[in-house]
Amino acid sequence: MDKQTLSFQAEVKQILHLVTHSLYSNKEIFLRELVSNASDACDKLRFEALDSSALYEDAPNLEVRVFFDAQAKTITVRDNGIGMSADEAVAHLGTIAKSGTREFMATLEGEQKKDANLIGQFGVGFYSGFIVADRITVESRRAGVASDQGVRWSSDGSGDFEVETIDRAARGTDVVLHLREGEEEFLSAWKLKSIVGKYSDHISLPILMVKQRWDEEKSAQVDTDEWETVNKAAALWTRPKSEVTDAQYQEFYKQLSYDSEAPLAYTHNRVEGRTEYTQLLYVPAKAPFDLWNRDKRGGVKLYVKRVFIMDDAEALMPVYLRFVKGVIDSADLPLNVSRELLQESRDVKAIREGSTKRVLSMLEALADNEDAAERDKYMKFWRDFGVVLKEGVGEDHANAERLAKLLRFASTQADEGVSLADYAGRMKEGQEAIFYITADSAVAAKSSPQLEIFRKKGIEVLLLTDRVDEWMLSHLYEFEGKSLQSVAKGGVDLGKLQDEAEKKQAEETAEALKPLIERLKAALKERAKDVRATTRLVDSPACIVVDEGDMSSHLARMLKQAGQSAPPAMPVLEVNPDHALVQRMAAAGEGDARFDDLAQILFDQALLAEGGHLEDPAAYVQRVNRLLVS
Ligand code: ADP
Ligand code: MG
Repeated sequence: MDKQTLSFQAEVKQILHLVTHSLYSNKEIFLRELVSNASDACDKLRFEALDSSALYEDAPNLEVRVFFDAQAKTITVRDNGIGMSADEAVAHLGTIAKSGTREFMATLEGEQKKDANLIGQFGVGFYSGFIVADRITVESRRAGVASDQGVRWSSDGSGDFEVETIDRAARGTDVVLHLREGEEEFLSAWKLKSIVGKYSDHISLPILMVKQRWDEEKSAQVDTDEWETVNKAAALWTRPKSEVTDAQYQEFYKQLSYDSEAPLAYTHNRVEGRTEYTQLLYVPAKAPFDLWNRDKRGGVKLYVKRVFIMDDAEALMPVYLRFVKGVIDSADLPLNVSRELLQESRDVKAIREGSTKRVLSMLEALADNEDAAERDKYMKFWRDFGVVLKEGVGEDHANAERLAKLLRFASTQADEGVSLADYAGRMKEGQEAIFYITADSAVAAKSSPQLEIFRKKGIEVLLLTDRVDEWMLSHLYEFEGKSLQSVAKGGVDLGKLQDEAEKKQAEETAEALKPLIERLKAALKERAKDVRATTRLVDSPACIVVDEGDMSSHLARMLKQAGQSAPPAMPVLEVNPDHALVQRMAAAGEGDARFDDLAQILFDQALLAEGGHLEDPAAYVQRVNRLLVS
C-alpha cells in the first residue's frame, strides 16, 4: 500500500477532540491503556498460536518494552504480540467498533468530565495517547506474515491519519508517542516505572525497561544496556491472598471495570475438588449505565491456566448477577474452549454454581452484618442493584431462598430496607400471611383504599413498585412458611386478626346489603364480574379487587403499556357498607333515576383510586355533573 491519507470516522474525531481538549486529570493513564493494548495483543497471539505454533516465529517469549528518548521527546510502548496488518490498522485505529461512544461522551460532559481514567471502559483507550502526544506513530507487523507486509500508521490526532506499507522484521507493534510541549515530565525512567507499578503490576507478562545505574562522575542515573522486568508479572489472582494488599485488589478492580469508585466487596478463592479454579470476584458500588440491558456483556473474564480466553463469558454467571466483575481461571477446561462448549460443560456449570454462591455470601455478609455501616453499604447496593437481584428469584430456583432473604422493600412502616424477616418478626399475633400491594408508585401504593383496614388494625403491608415485582411474586409464594398475599386479590381474609364479634357483625351487614348488591350487579354487569360487601374499607366507599387466580390490574396495566394485550379479567367491586354513599344508595327507591349514575360513578372512582384509567372519562364527567345539578 502506498502512502494514503484517510479521514477518521466522525465518532473518532469527536472523541479525539474531547481527549485533547477536556481531559486534564490522570493524564498518566495513557500508559496503562497502551500497556493494556500490548498485553491484549500478546494474549491474542497466545490464543491464536494454540492452533498454529508457527505464529511465535523465533520469539516465543511474549513481553512488553517501555522506553523513551529524551532528545526526540518520544515514549515507545513495544510488544511482540499479534500485530496488525495495514487493513487492521485502518479499521482498529481509525474507527470505533464498539457501541458506547455516545455514553462515553455523555460521561465526559458530566461532573467527571476532566478525568481521563474512564476512557478505557469505552473501547477507545488507544486515543488516550493524544492526551500527552501531538503525534502518534504506530509501526506493526502481524504474526505469521512476511516482513514486507508491515504497516506504518501516523496521525496528529486532528482529522486524518496516514498509512503505508513498510518493511518490518519484528513481529508485533511499536506505539511511539511524540510528546506535546509541556509533557516532558514523562521523559523519566523513575516516572514511567512508577506509573507501570501503579497501574500495570498485575499484567501477567513481563514489562521491561532499561536498567539504570548511578554514575558518580555525572552524579546522575544513566542507562545501561540491560533490560529489567519492572512489574510483578504474575497475574494478581494467581498470587496467594496473603501476599496481595487491599490496595492492590482495589487497583486491579479499577482496571478491570474502569469504575472510579472502589468496589463494595470482593472475594478471592482457589477452589479445589472435582473441578479446580481460581475466582476473584467484585461487587461494584454503583450501577453501570447499561445495567438494565439483559443482553449486556457479563463482567467476568475467563482464563484457562492463566491464558486469557474470553472477555464476557456469560456462561460463568447467571444473568441476574451480570453486574459482578472479575476473573475466573480454570485449571481443567481445554484451552480451545468455545462459547458453545462453555454452555454445555459440566465444569462450567460447577464453576457457575460455586461463583454464584460466593457472590451471594458476599452480599449476605454485608446485609446481615452487625456493623450498621456495613448494612448501610448493603442498602446502597440494594438501591442500585436490587431490581436486578429480584430477577434471580424467578431465575435461580436453587438459590431462591437465599435471594428472598436479601430482598428489601418499602412498607407502610418504613420507606425502605424492610426484609421479609423483619416483616415476619413484626407480624401481629394471629397474622398468618405477609401482605403486599403492587402499584406504579409509592404514593399510589400508600393511598390505595385496599390498605384502609390494614392501617386501622396496624398491620404492616409491603409496598411493591418496581416493574419486576409482579413477575418476581409469581415465583415467590411464601417465606419461611408464611404465604405472600396481595391485599388487592380475593376477599380479605384477616383470619384470626378479626374477632368473632366483628365477623358476626360483618355477616349481618352483608345480609342487610343484599338488595343493594343485587341492584349494583345488574347495573354494572358489563364491568364487574361480581359485587360484594367488604370489611377491608374504612374511609372509601368502594374498591376494585381481582379474583385470586386472576392477573392483578396493576400487571394488566403494565402489559398494556408494553403493547401486549392482556386477557381482560373482569374485576370485582367491593363496597363499604358503613360508607354514607353506599348507605344512601341502599336507601334509594326502585324508581330513582340517579341510581344508575351513582353505580357507574362508584365503580369509576374505585378504578381511579387504585391508579387505573377510565375508558370513557367524558361519560364520567357528565354523570358527576348531572348529580351536581340535580
Ligand atoms: P480496546 O483495547 O478496548 O479494543 P483501544 O482503543 O485501546 O480499544 O484499541 C483499539 C484496537 O486497536 C484494539 O482493539 C486492537 O485491535 C488495536 N490495537 C491497539 N493496540 C494494539 C497493539 N499494541 N497490538 C495490536 N493491536 C492493537
Ligand atoms: Mg485498549
